[in-house]
Amino acid sequence: MSSSIAALKIVRFDSLDTETQELLKEAVQARERAYAPYSKFKVGACLLCEDGSKFKGCNVENSASGAICAERTAYVKAVSEGNLKFKAIAVTAYQEKYITTPCGACRQFMSEFGNVIVYMTKPDLKEVFVSTLDELMPYQFQHNSDFTF
Ligand SMILES: [Zn+2]
Repeated sequence: MSSSIAALKIVRFDSLDTETQELLKEAVQARERAYAPYSKFKVGACLLCEDGSKFKGCNVENSASGAICAERTAYVKAVSEGNLKFKAIAVTAYQEKYITTPCGACRQFMSEFGNVIVYMTKPDLKEVFVSTLDELMPYQFQHNSDFTF
């Protein structure tokens, strides 16, 4: 997979296959469980594993220890259930003018487990920004990096 920056690819939700639509719908469902009393910014995610299993995540804030994002919640749930290979993740949050993308910490965290397709949308499920983790996080830190400089 190329690490170059690609042009924004925004597609209609209706143009996606059923499996991807379902992944996005489950991210929207996950967002409903977000615990965000401080920021009020609710995020949902749904992670698709290579074996077809899915793990939902929401952001969980805490007055004492900050927050964990929806994406990392989904990854932690999946890994703690024995899954280490992933195909795609859907992420949703509401901002009026923007489609929300994963934060830098999540991009680096997810990169530990390899490249995935990243679907990002608003909860209204009209338009979907389709990218990959490698596009969102080029030259990510890897403990056993193949990069040579
Ligand atoms: Zn994050």
